[in-house]
Amino acid sequence: MKTIALIVAAGRGERAGGGAPKQYRRLAGLPVLRRSLSPFLAHPRVDAVRVVIADGQHDAYAEATAGLNLPEPVVGGAERQDSVRLGLEALADQRPDAVLIHDAARPFVPAAMIDRVLDALAGAPGALPVLPVVDTLKRGANGFVGDTVSRDGLWRAQTPQGFRYAEILDAHRAALGGPAATDDAALAERAGLAVALVEGSEDAAKLTTAEDLARAEARLSALLETRVGTGFDVHRIGPGDAMMLGGVAIPHDGALVGHSDADVALHALTDAILGGLADGDIGAHFPPSDPQWRGAASDRFLADAVRRVHARGGRIRHLDLTIICERPKIGPHRDAIRTRIASICGIAVDRVSVKATTTERLGFTGRQEGVAAQAAATLALPSDDRDPEWSRGV
Ligand code: MG
Repeated sequence: MKTIALIVAAGRGERAGGGAPKQYRRLAGLPVLRRSLSPFLAHPRVDAVRVVIADGQHDAYAEATAGLNLPEPVVGGAERQDSVRLGLEALADQRPDAVLIHDAARPFVPAAMIDRVLDALAGAPGALPVLPVVDTLKRGANGFVGDTVSRDGLWRAQTPQGFRYAEILDAHRAALGGPAATDDAALAERAGLAVALVEGSEDAAKLTTAEDLARAEARLSALLETRVGTGFDVHRIGPGDAMMLGGVAIPHDGALVGHSDADVALHALTDAILGGLADGDIGAHFPPSDPQWRGAASDRFLADAVRRVHARGGRIRHLDLTIICERPKIGPHRDAIRTRIASICGIAVDRVSVKATTTERLGFTGRQEGVAAQAAATLALPSDDRDPEWSRGV
């Protein structure tokens, strides 16, 4: 059965605050949309993922999905129903057997819930994940209780809602111009299609308000573990008129010598971050034997280590750098170095510490034969062994 997941991310709602539609807000470092795509991209029974966005959201979409190698997004319409119909029409040439229609504001769908929806499609043209109504339901008017509504037979509808593709496309076409529906199961009902109920999941809850986002953020943050990595590097001083230290060219009567720009401070920071990730060292990722790194600016190495942190769904909490040399004096350049490192790493300046010391004219640094640097990086990382699947990013 060829299955395509159609992720509806065309909302413009800013009810969740922050100035951007909620699907593009960041949740523990990753955009909500990217998290919402993750369970479908990772699911072995989902063959492709297509996203419906609002007109004018191409840039936000490109940023949220960078590196995921997705097909062009479909531009949706004025209402959710229009967006879904346009998304379904866009899949016509791929002729899927089944389609999973999913709201981008539900980022934590368990893989088992996708399985339940797909399993149900073997016996019905539609499948709807639901949860029981646990609270007592009241009808009210003018601030007073009217009567109690029986919960018997009532369910809360979630997504992804699964359908046989041809049937739901027909249902959407037939509904064009009629009253708007808030979900796709409603259109299936209108078209007389049987929709099977399957068990949903509280994890798949929709994030609507700023409070929902804050709760999800807190839940994800509680699952992050703290990692500390350290790095150390030395480069020889040779002839020259400036030293690259911490991404800043400092005028000096000597330069650091190395295969790249020999920025000993950025190299130590890069190794500290890689150490926190337990992901090798700078030499393993950027071999000195590779001519493409000859003379390379070392901000690339640091930026790559930061990218590896983000790819794991992690964040850099703090960087602490010590530069060890007699000269040049680091103090006058400290703020410029902090600002540069913060910029490369995409973190606030107050998370970057830059210190300097001499070795009292002892040893190779004391004789001004070389400059050393050591660094510590504190990372917050999801831990695979403890996290439920909903916390993972792609
Ligand atoms: Mg080095």
